Amino acid sequence: MKQLLVLGAGTAGTMVVNKLRSRLPEDEWAITIVDQGAEHHYQPGYLFIPFGGYTPEQVVKPKTRFIPDGVEFVRGAIHRVEPEANRVLLDDGTSLPYDQLVIATGTTPRPDQTPGMEGAEWRRSVFDFYTLEGATALGEKLRTWEGGRLVVHISEMPIKCPVAPLEFAFLAHSYFEDKGMRDQVELVYVTPLDGAFTKPVASKLLGDMLAERKIGIESDFYIERVDDENRTIVSYDERAIPFDLLVTVPVNMGADFVARSGLGNELNYVPVDQGNFLSTEWDNIFAVGDAADLPISKAGSVAHFAVEVFSENFLYHIRGEEMPIRFDGHANCFVESGEGKALLIDFNYDVQPLPGKYPLPILGPFSLLEETGVNHFGKLMFKWIYWNALLPGRELPLPALMSMAGKTEVPA
Ligand SMILES: Cc1cc2nc3c(=O)[nH]c(=O)nc-3n(C[C@H](O)[C@H](O)[C@H](O)COP(=O)(O)OP(=O)(O)OC[C@H]3O[C@@H](n4cnc5c(N)ncnc54)[C@H](O)[C@@H]3O)c2cc1C
Repeated sequence: MKQLLVLGAGTAGTMVVNKLRSRLPEDEWAITIVDQGAEHHYQPGYLFIPFGGYTPEQVVKPKTRFIPDGVEFVRGAIHRVEPEANRVLLDDGTSLPYDQLVIATGTTPRPDQTPGMEGAEWRRSVFDFYTLEGATALGEKLRTWEGGRLVVHISEMPIKCPVAPLEFAFLAHSYFEDKGMRDQVELVYVTPLDGAFTKPVASKLLGDMLAERKIGIESDFYIERVDDENRTIVSYDERAIPFDLLVTVPVNMGADFVARSGLGNELNYVPVDQGNFLSTEWDNIFAVGDAADLPISKAGSVAHFAVEVFSENFLYHIRGEEMPIRFDGHANCFVESGEGKALLIDFNYDVQPLPGKYPLPILGPFSLLEETGVNHFGKLMFKWIYWNALLPGRELPLPALMSMAGKTEVPA
């Protein structure tokens, strides 16, 4: 009996076992999936919790509900991978052997990486919304906050869902307008990037949207510390930005066991072939989802498209054949812009987000780089699709590789 071991039962790991269980004969392949947690979180839902859009209960379900029959779920924290011995050790001493290993342990916000962030003001005037606890605590704070200077901040790239802090800023603008207190709130967006986003066309559009909403932008800001006594964030070049309320996205990092196993880069992401997710060092170790070091956004959509490609290729790989499909870095993200609208971006390693329609040319129904109510509806519908189609590994009518159909080329 051969053993496929999947580390992490989040978005990517859960899809992997669902896609592969039906395709690997049960009398030849055992499949085991390991996770430290019992609950599966729909992380895109965290964005809406601070504004009362979702309750915490709406974004959490038991992980076991999404693990198919014929897959063993092991609950435990991963301590180390021993690639020479083809085994994984858990914190409790359990040893799990493997023939093929998939690392899908994602990325986690690490406020401990920035001096002062978890100081006396943590969850008093310094909040994150990248965890359920953070988003919930921030919601409580916003309900009674009387206004002042609200700084929305990204510590360092890469972060998962790099548009989420922008969405937070847009939704905060709408939230305070609806509460009739927008004039009592100064909104500032602080980023280490040189503009609102990484890709030129989208960055210009999103930057204009910040300006229209009178949200100031401080770019090229590399945080060195949070000075919680003076309620200020300070950069390495000694720029100081004061806040009354700081909503920060802490440094994001892959799991510590990746570093302990000698499998990661400086942020604990696993270097892989960007076309097929095979470790650059080991030919029986893959990394998919946010855990992989890929030159594209860390996002659930990327995890989804990547798992489609991976699960097809994997069947060839275990027969010793060349993997036929090359992943192109396909990513797409709805960007909530407030007042019941959102835009959509669709891009890959080589093609930046362009205007047009998605997934069908002319018909859409979604509009690329344009704020529409249909896009917003798509973003909200996605929660249902996530629980009912995506995680269980059902086929969606969305090609894994990016298509140029419906896109309008923009001159450089
Ligand atoms: C606020 C927010 C908004 C977002 N919005 C969007 C969006 O609109 N669209 C989009 O596409 N994406 C969005 N994302 C990103 C998306 O949620 C992630 O990219 C996606 O979940 C990545 O899947 P993954 O399987 O790689 O990691 P995860 O789903 O995070 O799963 C990793 C799993 O590994 C487990 N694990 C980690 N370390 C260990 C260990 N040592 N031992 C045992 N288990 C371990 C964890 O418990 C977890 O279950 C958003 C994320 C956030 C935070």
